[in-house]
Amino acid sequence: MIRVRVPGDKSISHRAALLAPLAASDSVVRGLSTGADVRSSVRAMQRLGAAIECEEDEGGLTIRCPGGGLAGGAPPRLDCGNSGTTARLLTGILSGAGVAAVLDGDPSLRSRPMRRIVYPLQAMGARIEYEGEPGRLPIRVRARATGQLRPLRHRARVASAQVKSAVLLAGVLARVRVSVSEPALSRDHTERMLAAMGAPVVFDPARAGAGEAAFDPTGWDGGLDGLHMTVPGDPSSAAFLIGAALLSGRAVRVEDVAANRGRTGFLAVLEAMGAAVRRDPLPDQAGEPRETWTVRPPDGLRAFSIGGAAVPGLIDEIPLLAVLAARARGRSEIRDAAELRVKESDRLTGLARALESLGVRVEERTDGLTIEGRTGRLRGAVESRGDHRIAMAFGVLEAAGDADLAIDDRACAGVSFPGFRKALAPFTEGTPARPPGRPGGRAIAVDGPAASGKSTTARRVADRLGFVHVNSGLLYRAITWWALREGIGDDAQAVEDAVPALALELVPAPDGLAVGVGEVIADRALHSPEVTARVSALSALPAVRAVVLDRLRRAGRRHEIVCDGRDIGTTVFPDAGLKVFLVAEPRERARRRLLERGASLTEENIEREAAALEARDRLDSSRSLSPLKRAEEAVVIDTTGGIRARSWIPSYDSPSNAVSPDPDHTSPERPLVMLTEPRVRSSFAHCPRIVAGERGAPRRSCRNPR
Ligand code: C5P
Repeated sequence: MIRVRVPGDKSISHRAALLAPLAASDSVVRGLSTGADVRSSVRAMQRLGAAIECEEDEGGLTIRCPGGGLAGGAPPRLDCGNSGTTARLLTGILSGAGVAAVLDGDPSLRSRPMRRIVYPLQAMGARIEYEGEPGRLPIRVRARATGQLRPLRHRARVASAQVKSAVLLAGVLARVRVSVSEPALSRDHTERMLAAMGAPVVFDPARAGAGEAAFDPTGWDGGLDGLHMTVPGDPSSAAFLIGAALLSGRAVRVEDVAANRGRTGFLAVLEAMGAAVRRDPLPDQAGEPRETWTVRPPDGLRAFSIGGAAVPGLIDEIPLLAVLAARARGRSEIRDAAELRVKESDRLTGLARALESLGVRVEERTDGLTIEGRTGRLRGAVESRGDHRIAMAFGVLEAAGDADLAIDDRACAGVSFPGFRKALAPFTEGTPARPPGRPGGRAIAVDGPAASGKSTTARRVADRLGFVHVNSGLLYRAITWWALREGIGDDAQAVEDAVPALALELVPAPDGLAVGVGEVIADRALHSPEVTARVSALSALPAVRAVVLDRLRRAGRRHEIVCDGRDIGTTVFPDAGLKVFLVAEPRERARRRLLERGASLTEENIEREAAALEARDRLDSSRSLSPLKRAEEAVVIDTTGGIRARSWIPSYDSPSNAVSPDPDHTSPERPLVMLTEPRVRSSFAHCPRIVAGERGAPRRSCRNPR
């Protein structure tokens, strides 16, 4: 479990920085986001005469402010940088307070629409002019005496928290009645914070869909109380780390995140994708709910579909969701999200181009995207268009380890998530949050030729240790079963073309992990003579091996596993903590296979079966890619004498071997990994269960229902 904290919520930080100076008394707000956007808000208020003192430490930015409102004077030119929130909320504040200023921003902000804010404020009587292109920054807000604005009932055409906030702030500061109705729920941080500061703002925090926020000054003395709070973590930033956890198959806990309904819509999408999400509430502050989230990954992400009223509640998470969709099984749909075209960049086009350049199939529509998930390594160049959320979404994909990306501008992540790359480090492949003294990784690798006793041994060891057993051969068999069913069992090219998109997975089943291709495949089908005859040829195909490698490593990242196969110690888990290589004479192996099938042990049968096994071994050992081969450091055990015979199993006390029988010999057929060899013992020092040879708690085995 990786535990993280994320920087303070950007939306709440902006509002704290913009509202604290307007209070009648002092404020102390801790944990503000240190991102460039929030700094733009702080700087703008300072330039407007607010005495904000800033201090920065690991927990974020602390602001102290005596309150008292804005100074008038010569109209400053305020640079809002890249921050739409700063520009739009400030326009409402300046209009309501009757303070003059010119608002400007960087080229990206200059291209974003301002009319949706300016229009209702002008309708209230605010004097706002465009200095350049109509509808865009820079704009000039002219001074006028407080109390000269008209009341307004505004019906917003788009659900936008910035429009709603600008009108509410103008109303509160000018003390005139305003209301804003919107077609869908947008973020209500401004309403909550104003209400916490004592302003009579009416809204329904529990509403869903269309809604209204209103301010009525009747009976109010006009004084806003100072703010004293710590800003909770930013759920949009949390979303990226949760995305990294899901893609890398790790569980994550994010402490103290803003849990505002308008911000957490993406959690439901993650649940629909198969993730398990737990939300533990914490006490509210300044009207904002907060929670700690624990998210566990599924064995494979499923495609999703989003649209309609749900979109405003997850609009900022769509870049991340689009990237997750590229790794999900099936086709994901994003609709009703045209608003993304006027964010920091045209995010729909930006996402579509970037995903396409990695070979992901994407269809771009006016209001959304259709994304076809795919497996295999992704390679290509990503143009972030200076957009922090696009840069971060692809940063997450890269951190999960199966993508080689050239992202043109990673630094822009700092706009909302300073230290983003560092925050991703625990999720990066090869650097899981390993306990110290655990150089060898979590896996136990058991390799060897067919019928050498790998599966039986691996299952028993996993059972005893509480590890998950994964039989990698079943994955190759499942692909072969599928290829035969599709009628392409003899067509290597067709298999190579189709297998990257195959929904091959290890599915949690009541008695362990079963192998599925869309549906769980019965063990009998996987071990049919047709599958057995074809599996070695198909398992030599690079695309087939890539898909199986991907599934095994995912399982290895998620669980402590005992994995058996041919190349587990050499290729799949080269850093496995323990490697075992089992061998047995061909006639003995043939005898086991015949017994398994219930066939009679005639000399002829044994000879024929031994020849078939040896032929398969030859194919497996001679292929160029990941052949059957002993890892140098593997402990070799000859099981010819039978797993039952003690002769092949060194005693529990032997200092030179890592494998011994069950020490009490209650079941002589249960070889058990024991840590008697110093190298292995030190590799597993973190795992008392192994050192003590105790029976572990939960267990799962990759066993299919026969
Ligand atoms: O272990 P089992 O006999 O079920 O494996 C079936 C086949 O899958 C093997 O003969 C081999 O061709 C292939 N295989 C492999 N690499 C593994 C496991 C199995 O190539 N790690």
